[in-house]
Amino acid sequence: MNALQLFADWQPRPSYIPSPSEVQTHRAKSGSQVWKNPRLELGSLPDPQLRGDQVLIQVGAVGICGSDMHMYEADSEGYILYPGLTRFPNILGHEFAGRVVEVGKEVKGLQVGDLVACEEVHWCGICDACRRGLVNHCTQLEELGFTTPGAMAQYIAVAAKYCWKLDELAEHTGSESEALILGAMVEPCGVSYHAMFNRLSTWKPGNYVAVFGGGPIGLAAIGLAKAAGASQIIAFDVSEQRLQMAQKLGATSTLNPTGLDLNQALLELTRGQGVDFVVEAAGAPAHTLTPLTNGLAVGATIAHIGRSEKPTPLSLEHYQVRGVQLAGSLGHAGHGTFPNVIRLMASGRLEMRPMVSAILPLSEAVAAFKRLERREDSKIILLPNP
Ligand SMILES: [Zn+2]
Ligand SMILES: [Zn+2]
Repeated sequence: MNALQLFADWQPRPSYIPSPSEVQTHRAKSGSQVWKNPRLELGSLPDPQLRGDQVLIQVGAVGICGSDMHMYEADSEGYILYPGLTRFPNILGHEFAGRVVEVGKEVKGLQVGDLVACEEVHWCGICDACRRGLVNHCTQLEELGFTTPGAMAQYIAVAAKYCWKLDELAEHTGSESEALILGAMVEPCGVSYHAMFNRLSTWKPGNYVAVFGGGPIGLAAIGLAKAAGASQIIAFDVSEQRLQMAQKLGATSTLNPTGLDLNQALLELTRGQGVDFVVEAAGAPAHTLTPLTNGLAVGATIAHIGRSEKPTPLSLEHYQVRGVQLAGSLGHAGHGTFPNVIRLMASGRLEMRPMVSAILPLSEAVAAFKRLERREDSKIILLPNP
């Protein structure tokens, strides 16, 4: 089958001592500390072998994620930008949907022909975190497209317990190819959904919401805030194109934060009340969260989704006096998130389709990554079986 692989060299930074298990397995806890000289290669690989608990999926659509870009892009010393769990060489791609073409012997509830989207967080179900229901924080975690083969390939084998059917989306769109494109966006929308409705259940319809970051996760947060009844959605990004997309997906105000007094801007827009709920999806908390003080309403909550390795100074005295809380959020698995996102999309309440700026065959993947370096596209979808 055709597949897009990322190769990189195992060369831990002089300041980083990898653990014995990292050395043995090359499954790095922090990719940006060990992987150097990333390069993409489109080539031919053997079809995946199916285990009894898996289904074989013919990939219909797969999105390129910011994390994919951060594995492909390097810093000035040649290290990949992505700070999370990684093992290379690996097939990239974790935002996808496809058609089941073969079913393992132990699988129940899925049949050949079913359209599915899959969780990327491969939780074990056995460790203490999983047994407490915190599957996104599984201590034996594998991640599809990061440590195990991803979906930028014609076929992928995935355990049935991570698959969710897209029947409702197929009915809603009346088109299998459209259902697969929307299905490929369930995973990124699930990341925002998990942060906004599972990690925190503090904010309510009618609230004022601010979203930092107009990438796919921020855009999904805007769509979800609209669906959930936010009265104002204030979006921040440095890119004019991204702000236009934010407006299309439901932002009521769009602001470029460069040189802006964030608190003053939020107070002006909220009649002096401040915002009730903040989503950080820019991965730049030193510029987004650090300056926030009286622009936050009494009792405001903050969901932190964007990744950033550096410690962030926060006005904790202010948090205390105003009753502000902050939650870090990771992942999209469990908690009914995938089926809820699929239902929201199928009901027409969550409209993510305008975000897709290009649909290209997998054969043009390398050029698509190159194009995304400019950060002008919201979402590029690749078709491995056009
Ligand atoms: Zn992603
Ligand atoms: Zn686990």
